[in-house]
Amino acid sequence: MHAVVLREYGGPENLKWEEVPAPEPKAGEALIRVGAVSVDIYQSVLRRGGAVGVKLPLIMGNGIAGTVSALGANASGVAVGERVVVCNNVSCGDCRYCRMGRDTLCIGRLILGGHRNGGYAELVAVPARDCVPLPESISFEQACLIPNTIGPVLKACSRRADISPGENVLVVGAGGGMGIHAVQAARACGGRVIAAMRSMRMADAVKAAGADVIVSTEEPDWSEQVRRHTDGWGAQAALDFVANTQTLKGSLDALAPAGTLVIMGYFPRGSVLETPTWVFSEERTVTGNRSAGRRDIEDSIALVKAGRIEPLIARVFPLRDAAAAHQGFEAG
Ligand SMILES: [Zn+2]
Repeated sequence: MHAVVLREYGGPENLKWEEVPAPEPKAGEALIRVGAVSVDIYQSVLRRGGAVGVKLPLIMGNGIAGTVSALGANASGVAVGERVVVCNNVSCGDCRYCRMGRDTLCIGRLILGGHRNGGYAELVAVPARDCVPLPESISFEQACLIPNTIGPVLKACSRRADISPGENVLVVGAGGGMGIHAVQAARACGGRVIAAMRSMRMADAVKAAGADVIVSTEEPDWSEQVRRHTDGWGAQAALDFVANTQTLKGSLDALAPAGTLVIMGYFPRGSVLETPTWVFSEERTVTGNRSAGRRDIEDSIALVKAGRIEPLIARVFPLRDAAAAHQGFEAG
C-alpha cells in the first residue's frame, strides 16, 4: 500500500510518499480503508519532534474516517463494510480513569498516529473498540474533523464547562479552526456566545457560526467589554484557545462568580496564569481539556448528523500531498 512516512523530524517536506507493507489486523483490531484524515496542531508538533514517546519511522495521522475492510480475531462492535470514525486515543478500558468515563486520562493511553501507526496511509489497523459507526449523511472529509476538532470542543463545553441553556460563554481565539467549531458547540449546548479574537479577518464567519457578540483582544479593556455584554455579571464559562499570559488573565477577569475557565490551547512557553484571591472568594474553576473520548465522538456525530454543528473544511488534499496540507495548516 501507499503511505506518508516520517523518517526524520523536521519541516513538512519530511513527509514522504512511500510504498510500504499493508498492516494485518491483530486480535481485537479492525483494518480501516482510510477515507479521510485530518491535520492538527499535535501532528504539526510531532513532525517537528516535539511530541513525547514517539519513535520513527512513523506513519502519522489521526482524525481518521473510513470503511472497515477486515477484522482480526475476536474483533467486535463493527462489521466489514461499515463506515466508521476512529477515536484518537487508544485506551485500556479498564484503569480507574477509563472506569470513571474519563478515557482521555487512561493510564495506558496511546495516541493513534503518534505512539502507533496512524492514518496517513491507504490502510490502518486500529482497535475495533475505538471505531464509532458513521451515518451515510456525513462525508469522510467532514467526519475526519470529529476526533480532533469537534469532539474536543464539545467535550470542553459539555463535560468540562458544563454549559447550560442561556448561559454566557466566552470563546477566546474564536477565529481559529478549533475556536470556530467551539462557537458552534457552545451554541449547540444552548449557550450565548461572546467571541474574542485578535484579528477581525474571520469575524463574519464567526458570526455565521453562531457568535452573538464579538470583541477584540487587541483592545485593552476587552474583558470589561465581556462584562458589559453580560449585564455586568461576566461569562459563566470561558474557553481559551490562545492561552497566553494576556488572554488567560482576560478570560479569568471576564468570568462570573462560580464560572469555569477551560484552558484549550497548548500552554505556550512562558504563559503565566495568576489566580487572584477572588478566584477563591468567588469559587471560580480553572481546568483543562485533553482531547475527546469515545462518548464525545458519539455525541459529535449526533450533532453533525442533526445539522447543529457543521464541520468547516478549509481545503482537501490528496493523501500523497500531506506535505502541502501541513504547509497550508502552518501558514494559517
Ligand atoms: Zn485506561
